[in-house]
This record gives sequence, C-alpha cells and structure tokens, in this order.
Amino acid sequence: MTDTIAETGKSGRNPVAAAGTRTVAEAVTPDLVRRLTSAVVVSDTPTLAGTRVPFTGEPLAEIPESTPEDVATAFARARAAQPAWAARPVRERAAVLLRFHDLLLAHKDELLDLVQAETGKARAHAAEEVLSAAVEARHYGRAGASYLRPRRRRGVFPVLTQVTELRQPKGVVGQISPWNYPLALFVGDALPAFVAGNAVVTKPDTQTALTALRARELLVEAGLPAELWQIVIGDGPVVGPEVVAHADYVSFTGSTRTGREVATKAAARLIGASMELGGKNAMLVLADADLDRAAEGAVRACFSSAGQLCISIERLYVAEAVADAFLEKFTARTRALRLGNSLAWGADMGSLVSKRQLDTVTRHVEDAVKNGARVLTGGQARPDVGPLFYEPTVLEGVTEAAAVCTEETFGPVVSVYRFRDEEEAVARANDTAYGLNASVWSRSTRRARAVAARLHSGTVNVNEGYAPAYGSVAAPMGGMGDSGVGRRHGAEGILKYTEVQTVAVQRLISMGPSFGMSDEAHAKFLQTSLKALKALRFK
Ligand code: NAD
Repeated sequence: MTDTIAETGKSGRNPVAAAGTRTVAEAVTPDLVRRLTSAVVVSDTPTLAGTRVPFTGEPLAEIPESTPEDVATAFARARAAQPAWAARPVRERAAVLLRFHDLLLAHKDELLDLVQAETGKARAHAAEEVLSAAVEARHYGRAGASYLRPRRRRGVFPVLTQVTELRQPKGVVGQISPWNYPLALFVGDALPAFVAGNAVVTKPDTQTALTALRARELLVEAGLPAELWQIVIGDGPVVGPEVVAHADYVSFTGSTRTGREVATKAAARLIGASMELGGKNAMLVLADADLDRAAEGAVRACFSSAGQLCISIERLYVAEAVADAFLEKFTARTRALRLGNSLAWGADMGSLVSKRQLDTVTRHVEDAVKNGARVLTGGQARPDVGPLFYEPTVLEGVTEAAAVCTEETFGPVVSVYRFRDEEEAVARANDTAYGLNASVWSRSTRRARAVAARLHSGTVNVNEGYAPAYGSVAAPMGGMGDSGVGRRHGAEGILKYTEVQTVAVQRLISMGPSFGMSDEAHAKFLQTSLKALKALRFK
C-alpha cells in the first residue's frame, strides 16, 4: 500500500502521496529493533511476540517475552540498584529529568516515527506525546525537590517536641502501561517515581514496546543508572500479575476491567496502587458558547489519536437553542478531516491500533443504529486507507439501549444529545459510573466554572476539550468513580511514590511523670497544660 492522506468524505476522495518522509521500514530497522529489545529482561531463548504496523497490517517487529522468573530477576536487579540511587541528593536525581527533557526534544523526529509506527496515530497526535513527556520531565525536574522536602509539623508540646515529616521512597514501583500513549504515559508515570528515589519495573504493552524502550534509552543517556529501570514484556494476564506480586507500589494505566483485577491483587498484598482507568467523557456546549470555537474544539476533543485517548470526549451535550447551528459546524469540520497512513505531517487522524479496537468501534456504531441512532457523518471502516481505519463518526438519537450510550468505545465515535437547561445537562453528564474528564463551553467563564464544579469528573476543561488540564502538570489529573483511584501530576503524582515518615524529637522534658510527680498529678498537669495552650491559642 502506498502512503496516503485521504479525505474522509465519500465524494472528492483525494489520496495524496506523502513526499519526503521516511517509510516505517526505514524508521524501524532490524538493527534498531535488536538494539532496543536487548534491554528487555528475558532468558536465553525467549518466545517472540510479533507486532504489526497499524497503518498497513505489515509485520513490524519481533519482541522477546519475559517469563515469570524473568520478572523476579528484573525486580531483584532493580531492588539491588535502588538504595544507592535513593542515597543521592534529590536535586541530583531531578537533574537527570532536566537533561532528559532536552534529549526528548533533540530526538523528537525519531520518537514521532516510532510512536506512529507502533500506534498508527497521526503525526500531530504523536507530537502531543513528545510535548507531554517533555513538559512533565521539566516540571518534576524543577519542582521535585520542593515536593519532597522535609516539612516541620507542630509537636504535641510546642517547642519541646520537634516534628518533621519525611518522604521515603517506596522501593521498587511496578508500572503497567497501555498502548495508546506509549511515550507520554510510560515516561510520565515513571519520572516522578525516580525523583522520589525509587527503582521501577515497567511492563509496557507489547505492541508499543519499542517506543518505551527508546524512551528508556534516552533517560539512561540523561544519567539514570541503567539497572534502575527494568523492562519486562509479555501477555498482560501472565506478566502483569507477576509485576504486582513483586512491587512495593503499583502504577497502573489501562481499562477499568483490568484495573479492578490489579487493584484487588495489590490490596491483598497491602501495597498502595494508583489506577488510571477508562472514561465516558462529556462535553457541554452551553447556549452562550462561541459555536465556531466549540465546533473546532470538539473535533480535537473527540478525534485526537482516533479517539483512543482516555480523556477523549464520547458524549456531547448541546443546548437545544444552538444545537442545529452547532451540529452544522461540527459535522462539516468532521467530514473534512483527512485520514493519513504515513509518517508524514498533514493528516488529521490516523488508524486504530488493532483489530480488537476496530471490532469494538464497528459493533458500537452498528448497535447504536440498530437501536435508533442516526449517523450524521462517518460510520464506516476505511479499508481503502488501511486495514484498521475508521471514519470519524458523529451519532445522534442514541438511545439508552445502545452500548455506546454508557460503555467506553475508545474510538472516533461521539454521540450528540440535546438539553433544555443546565440542570438537565449536569444531571445527564454525571449519569455515568465513570468520572475522568469533562469539558464546558460558554462565553461566560464564571458560568462555566460554576457548571464545572458540579461535574463528577477528575478534570474539567473550560473552552477546550482535554489539553489544558492534562498539560498543566503542576495540577493533579485522574479519575473519580470507575475512572480510577489516585492521581498523576502535581504533588499527588510524586508523593504517591513515597512513604510518609514522622520523626518526633522530644526535648528537655520527657512524656512520663517528672519531678517526682505521681501518675495522677502528671495527668492533671497535662490537662492544665492543654487548657493553657488553648487559652494561648496554641492548640
Ligand atoms: P488494558 O487494561 O487491556 O491493558 C493495560 C495494560 O494492562 C497492558 O499493558 C496490558 O498488557 C496489561 N494487562 C492486561 N491484563 C492484565 C492483568 N490481568 N493483570 C495485569 N496487567 C494486565 O487496557 P488497554 O486496552 O491497553 O488500554 C485502553 C484503556 O486504558 C482504556 O480503557 C483507556 O481509557 C484506559 N486508559 C486510561 C488512562 C488514564 O489516564 N485514565 C490513560 C490511557 C488509557
């Protein structure tokens, strides 16, 4: 198949050859695959898992798979390396991230090639990954030490008891990562763990292992001791539980179904876990919204990475009064999106990653139509562009009987619903078990903020779809309800990788009776002291 960019509309289809761009075969050579996969912890004769190029269905790489014994070896190596790393000053650990930031940007083109080759996403969407990883590296590189610094707390006796809160590393973090943002999530969730003094053992998804391995290489080049980040690869249900079985803390990103299993296993071991899970995210277009901006923003919010984005919008609630005008603009823009199956810039949307994803998208759209929905645009697979392509699709009239109404599609499909007033919009947006991301559009930011505060959602973006909240890495990001437990980014995103330890130093007087006091006299003395402290407004 030739590399093409194709308009999605049925008429005027106009495939364009992409000139001056590397092909996947030029970007992902056998030598590169050999070099990268040599870092996977495997025994001498590992089994191999074949990955494919989503754009074309052609074979991409053979990835060696780790056994449960290999996972144990990876943890042993990480555990041996961790104390020396934790003993280094925080600023030294954080400085590795600042160098990594520069390396990411210096190697952005080759990283974009790898992300696209493994995921099939458009180059512009792969670029979001490089930027996201760089922003996070810079944030924790600069702010890591201040998040982790010892904090003085008030002691039981003012002045006489000096209390300090310390942040100790957990030890070895087990990280399990999905295929959809193989650079941003893989790197993003590991970086703060390293700054906090941990080692990490990661199981990336096999389909996107090369991107992960190249990112690890760059972090090692930036100064991370190589033993500190171990990579194991293999079937999720086989290798994933082994990671949980050895870890001191688990950082999981993936589906709610798998997340529940992982959380149950972590709970049985009494270790902490953060769960970044699925969503069924809502966008609310209020009656006073700027409809051109909202339509343009909705396209970004629904179809970035072909909707294979956890914070992507899949439910679009529009005020009745402006719904027709909004839909005209939104569907026109959606129809004009160009699908691309090459490593070139210029495509608006790429491929789905796997047959499983294509099957879910196809099933959700067919089932919605069977249950009464109308397809306003899209609704077709596009094998003429590539085996896993599906058109960006807008549905209206979706009924509650349809799976797409409540289940995460994780594809380029959005359902539009009309609402009468904000009460109804908020109630319907919140009528889901999930609570990951939401978006509110209004010319009045005051009004939008008030609506945002009523949404059951870990992040809410006003007058954008997902990027401002996700990109603001100083603030936490994560899900409520079935969308997760814990947060990435901000203080939460690094402190979760630590054990908090309280050190109390008692000075001058002891906690027991002194000066020959009886127990009763001592108890009275303490009570009197409490009253005195209250009067002095100390306690
Ligand atoms: P998935 O749950 O199938 O797989 C995620 C990871 O878990 C993979 O590495 C997989 O190999 C591994 N895994 C599978 N079974 C396992 C088991 N029994 N024990 C341990 N690990 C196991 O999810 P996916 O299809 O790869 O990713 C898509 C999902 O991830 C979507 O639901 C999406 O919303 C979610 N996601 C959430 C976020 C977030 O930040 N909230 C980000 C990206 C993706």
